[in-house]
Amino acid sequence: MKESTGGRKQGAISPCAACKLLRRRCAQDCVFAPYFPADEPQKFASVHKVFGASNVNKMLQVRFQ
Ligand SMILES: [Zn+2]
Repeated sequence: MKESTGGRKQGAISPCAACKLLRRRCAQDCVFAPYFPADEPQKFASVHKVFGASNVNKMLQVRFQ
């Protein structure tokens, strides 16, 4: 597979799976992005289903403290 050279402009990053599902604006330092990349939407969908979005948010914030 060839690495894509075009279509990846600054400021036009696709939101991570979490932000996409929650319809949030995906910030550059989004806490979800490292855990829920955009190409694995099922991952966040299942976590979101079990724990709920606010709990996931809390859990991740705790990890960063
Ligand atoms: Zn995000």
